[in-house]
Amino acid sequence: MASGKEHDNATCFLSLPFSLCLCLLVGLANGLIAGLAFAFGGLWLSPDLDTYSKALKRWGPLKGLWWPYRKLIPHRSLFSHGPLIGTALRLTYLISWTALLLMLLQPLGFPTLLSVTKACKEQLRLNPQPFLSLLIGLEASAWLHLILDGDPLPAEWHRWRHR
Ligand SMILES: [Zn+2]
Repeated sequence: MASGKEHDNATCFLSLPFSLCLCLLVGLANGLIAGLAFAFGGLWLSPDLDTYSKALKRWGPLKGLWWPYRKLIPHRSLFSHGPLIGTALRLTYLISWTALLLMLLQPLGFPTLLSVTKACKEQLRLNPQPFLSLLIGLEASAWLHLILDGDPLPAEWHRWRHR
Protein backbone atom coordinates (compact mmCIF):
# COMPACT_ATOMS: atom_id res chain seq x y z
CA MET A 1 0.00 0.00 0.00
CA ALA A 2 1.43 3.37 -1.01
CA SER A 3 1.89 6.24 1.43
CA GLY A 4 0.08 9.55 1.06
CA LYS A 5 3.29 11.12 -0.23
CA GLU A 6 3.67 8.41 -2.89
CA HIS A 7 0.06 8.94 -3.99
CA ASP A 8 0.65 12.71 -4.20
CA ASN A 9 3.93 12.33 -6.12
CA ALA A 10 2.38 9.96 -8.66
CA THR A 11 -0.64 12.23 -9.12
CA CYS A 12 1.55 15.31 -9.66
CA PHE A 13 3.97 13.43 -11.92
CA LEU A 14 1.23 11.98 -14.13
CA SER A 15 -1.21 14.92 -14.25
CA LEU A 16 0.57 16.72 -17.08
CA PRO A 17 1.17 13.69 -19.37
CA PHE A 18 -2.40 12.54 -18.68
CA SER A 19 -3.71 15.97 -19.61
CA LEU A 20 -1.54 16.12 -22.76
CA CYS A 21 -2.78 12.71 -23.92
CA LEU A 22 -6.39 13.78 -23.36
CA CYS A 23 -5.73 17.10 -25.18
CA LEU A 24 -4.60 15.08 -28.21
CA LEU A 25 -7.62 12.79 -27.99
CA VAL A 26 -10.45 15.19 -27.12
CA GLY A 27 -9.10 18.70 -27.70
CA LEU A 28 -7.41 21.36 -25.59
CA ALA A 29 -10.28 22.48 -23.36
CA ASN A 30 -11.54 19.00 -22.48
CA GLY A 31 -7.96 17.71 -22.07
CA LEU A 32 -7.27 20.49 -19.58
CA ILE A 33 -10.49 19.71 -17.72
CA ALA A 34 -9.51 16.04 -17.54
CA GLY A 35 -5.99 16.92 -16.36
CA LEU A 36 -7.26 19.26 -13.66
CA ALA A 37 -9.85 16.68 -12.61
CA PHE A 38 -7.07 14.07 -12.42
CA ALA A 39 -5.01 16.33 -10.14
CA PHE A 40 -8.05 17.31 -8.03
CA GLY A 41 -9.15 13.68 -7.83
CA GLY A 42 -5.74 12.53 -6.62
CA LEU A 43 -5.00 15.38 -4.22
CA TRP A 44 -8.44 16.34 -2.84
CA LEU A 45 -11.01 13.73 -3.82
CA SER A 46 -8.85 10.71 -3.04
CA PRO A 47 -10.24 7.29 -2.05
CA ASP A 48 -8.32 7.86 1.22
CA LEU A 49 -10.85 10.46 2.35
CA ASP A 50 -12.20 7.46 4.29
CA THR A 51 -9.32 7.90 6.75
CA TYR A 52 -7.36 10.76 8.31
CA SER A 53 -5.21 11.32 5.22
CA LYS A 54 -3.21 14.04 3.48
CA ALA A 55 -6.12 14.48 1.05
CA LEU A 56 -8.46 15.09 3.98
CA LYS A 57 -6.08 17.65 5.55
CA ARG A 58 -5.99 19.55 2.24
CA TRP A 59 -9.66 20.45 2.74
CA GLY A 60 -8.48 22.70 5.59
CA PRO A 61 -11.40 24.19 7.51
CA LEU A 62 -13.79 22.25 5.25
CA LYS A 63 -12.39 18.84 6.23
CA GLY A 64 -15.25 18.48 8.72
CA LEU A 65 -17.53 17.97 5.70
CA TRP A 66 -15.91 14.55 5.31
CA TRP A 67 -16.43 13.49 8.93
CA PRO A 68 -19.73 11.63 8.23
CA TYR A 69 -18.12 9.98 5.20
CA ARG A 70 -15.17 8.79 7.31
CA LYS A 71 -17.46 7.50 10.03
CA LEU A 72 -19.81 5.67 7.65
CA ILE A 73 -17.30 4.16 5.24
CA PRO A 74 -14.62 1.76 6.49
CA HIS A 75 -11.10 2.40 5.21
CA ARG A 76 -10.38 0.65 1.88
CA SER A 77 -13.95 -0.59 1.58
CA LEU A 78 -15.81 -1.12 -1.68
CA PHE A 79 -17.53 2.24 -1.19
CA SER A 80 -14.30 4.25 -1.11
CA HIS A 81 -11.81 2.04 -2.97
CA GLY A 82 -14.14 0.28 -5.39
CA PRO A 83 -13.63 1.12 -9.07
CA LEU A 84 -16.37 3.51 -10.32
CA ILE A 85 -18.46 3.21 -7.13
CA GLY A 86 -15.83 5.04 -5.02
CA THR A 87 -15.66 8.06 -7.31
CA ALA A 88 -19.44 8.03 -7.85
CA LEU A 89 -20.06 8.02 -4.10
CA ARG A 90 -17.53 10.78 -3.33
CA LEU A 91 -18.98 12.95 -6.13
CA THR A 92 -22.53 12.32 -4.94
CA TYR A 93 -21.45 13.14 -1.39
CA LEU A 94 -19.82 16.41 -2.50
CA ILE A 95 -22.80 17.36 -4.68
CA SER A 96 -25.10 16.74 -1.70
CA TRP A 97 -23.13 19.19 0.44
CA THR A 98 -23.17 21.71 -2.43
CA ALA A 99 -26.94 21.29 -2.77
CA LEU A 100 -27.38 21.84 0.98
CA LEU A 101 -25.20 24.97 0.81
CA LEU A 102 -27.25 26.31 -2.10
CA MET A 103 -30.46 25.76 -0.15
CA LEU A 104 -29.00 27.59 2.85
CA LEU A 105 -27.79 30.50 0.70
CA GLN A 106 -31.03 30.85 -1.25
CA PRO A 107 -32.56 33.41 1.19
CA LEU A 108 -29.50 35.62 0.53
CA GLY A 109 -30.35 35.84 -3.17
CA PHE A 110 -28.27 32.94 -4.46
CA PRO A 111 -29.77 30.85 -7.29
CA THR A 112 -32.20 28.16 -6.21
CA LEU A 113 -31.20 24.52 -6.22
CA LEU A 114 -33.87 23.89 -8.85
CA SER A 115 -32.54 26.60 -11.18
CA VAL A 116 -28.94 25.37 -10.79
CA THR A 117 -30.05 21.78 -11.44
CA LYS A 118 -31.96 22.85 -14.56
CA ALA A 119 -28.98 24.87 -15.84
CA CYS A 120 -26.62 21.90 -15.26
CA LYS A 121 -29.00 19.49 -17.03
CA GLU A 122 -29.34 21.85 -19.99
CA GLN A 123 -25.56 22.30 -20.19
CA LEU A 124 -25.11 18.52 -20.06
CA ARG A 125 -27.64 18.05 -22.84
CA LEU A 126 -26.02 20.70 -25.07
CA ASN A 127 -22.38 19.87 -24.41
CA PRO A 128 -21.64 16.69 -22.41
CA GLN A 129 -17.92 16.48 -23.28
CA PRO A 130 -16.60 18.71 -20.44
CA PHE A 131 -18.59 16.67 -17.93
CA LEU A 132 -17.32 13.39 -19.39
CA SER A 133 -13.75 14.76 -19.32
CA LEU A 134 -14.22 15.64 -15.66
CA LEU A 135 -15.46 12.14 -14.86
CA ILE A 136 -12.64 10.49 -16.82
CA GLY A 137 -10.04 12.58 -14.99
CA LEU A 138 -11.51 11.82 -11.57
CA GLU A 139 -11.88 8.11 -12.24
CA ALA A 140 -8.39 7.82 -13.76
CA SER A 141 -6.91 9.36 -10.60
CA ALA A 142 -8.88 6.86 -8.51
CA TRP A 143 -7.47 4.00 -10.62
CA LEU A 144 -3.95 5.35 -10.13
CA HIS A 145 -4.62 5.36 -6.40
CA LEU A 146 -5.96 1.78 -6.43
CA ILE A 147 -3.02 0.51 -8.48
CA LEU A 148 -0.53 2.21 -6.14
CA ASP A 149 -2.31 0.71 -3.15
CA GLY A 150 -1.18 -2.56 -4.71
CA ASP A 151 -4.56 -4.10 -5.09
CA PRO A 152 -7.26 -2.54 -7.22
CA LEU A 153 -9.91 -4.77 -5.66
CA PRO A 154 -11.59 -3.63 -2.45
CA ALA A 155 -11.23 -5.56 0.82
CA GLU A 156 -14.81 -6.90 0.54
CA TRP A 157 -13.84 -8.78 -2.59
CA HIS A 158 -11.09 -10.69 -0.75
CA ARG A 159 -13.30 -11.41 2.28
CA TRP A 160 -16.02 -12.72 -0.02
CA ARG A 161 -13.54 -14.81 -2.04
CA HIS A 162 -12.12 -16.49 1.09
CA ARG A 163 -15.49 -17.60 2.49
ZN1 LIG B 1 -6.08 4.04 -0.43
